[in-house]
Amino acid sequence: MPTVAAWGTTSPTTDLAPMSIERREPDATDVELEILYCGVCHTDMHFARNDWGYTRYPLVPGHEIVGKVVRVGSDVSRYKAGDLVAVGCLVDSCRTCPSCQENVEQYCDGGMVGTYGSPDPRHGNAVTFGGYSQRMVVNENYVLRVPTNLDLKAVAPLLCAGITTWSPLQHWKVGKGQTVGVIGLGGLGHMGVKFAHALGAKVVMITTSPGKAADARKLGADDVLISSDPQAMAAHAKQFDFLLNTIPVSHDINPYLSLLKRDGTMVIVGALVPLSGQLQSGALVMQRISVAGSIIGGIKETQEMLDFCGEHNIVSDVEMIRMDAINDAYERMLKNDVKYRFVIDIGSIA
Ligand code: NAP
Ligand code: ZN
Repeated sequence: MPTVAAWGTTSPTTDLAPMSIERREPDATDVELEILYCGVCHTDMHFARNDWGYTRYPLVPGHEIVGKVVRVGSDVSRYKAGDLVAVGCLVDSCRTCPSCQENVEQYCDGGMVGTYGSPDPRHGNAVTFGGYSQRMVVNENYVLRVPTNLDLKAVAPLLCAGITTWSPLQHWKVGKGQTVGVIGLGGLGHMGVKFAHALGAKVVMITTSPGKAADARKLGADDVLISSDPQAMAAHAKQFDFLLNTIPVSHDINPYLSLLKRDGTMVIVGALVPLSGQLQSGALVMQRISVAGSIIGGIKETQEMLDFCGEHNIVSDVEMIRMDAINDAYERMLKNDVKYRFVIDIGSIA
């Protein structure tokens, strides 16, 4: 099995550092790609530090991957050497359950095989390694095609931050005539603003950081609401049809729910841990409000999102880093100091 240079970690308290990993030889339906760029998702840090309690070590994070095909298996028809391709957050699923049949493999009954940190049942339950590495091998059905008119570096974050915000906007049919609040201006939030704006909604950036207001407007927000200002929050009560909540930690959602109109919906994509504060169910009942969740998107929908981005010239706003700057990048992410996604130049892996 080929050995590949990567960066990863061996415990929740250890910095990321260089390591060698093994990749399988491509089989008949596999695509092997040279990874060019990999986005840095907040989830990578949650996994590295075992915030959710199920990280398997050693861990090589990275699920916002773009690269170039170097080899394909004998039965692969959709890709050839030299193609620009992408890999997102999942690299396999059972392929037979209702969710897989309906192109929402992210909700696979058997559990999707995550791009990193997941046992891979079709390959002896070997735990997957992500995109902070020079090469990877993925079944062709889980590989995406990249529109060639876009800046490749800035495409990488679309594979998680992009699809995670696109999918709920599609599912809840957000568009013209609606007022959408995007909560949290980080990697996910900045894509949420771009997409909601492109879909024709009125967009309000809801942020804890007054210093991000001007950027929010440049990204497409019509208005900015500082969530720590109770008067401003009260002035926006019952104004929103839809709230996309990207806050990465446990928090009290009740103050945000008061922003929703009758029949409004808040979709949580950020906090995968129990929320703090008691849900004020009376507020839901009195205004027929929904609180929902959503995880990434299926492969078909991810391709649709990439194609939409190609047609509308949408990419992420990125700050490029070398691989050896990853530990500093994590620290900056914890301080909400990302504008608005770090992307690793994988060529910098020695
Ligand atoms: P990020 O770039 O760090 O951005 C998160 C933003 O949330 C921050 O920039 C900040 O924005 C705001 N924020 C942070 N702490 C806050 C707090 N205590 N209260 C209120 N707002 C706070 O993170 P990301 O990569 O966008 O990821 C966000 C979350 O989504 C993470 O938990 C990640 O694991 C999760 N995620 C979920 C999915 C899914 O499929 N559901 C996919 C990818 C990521 P302001 O400065 O504007 O307040
Ligand atoms: Zn992610």
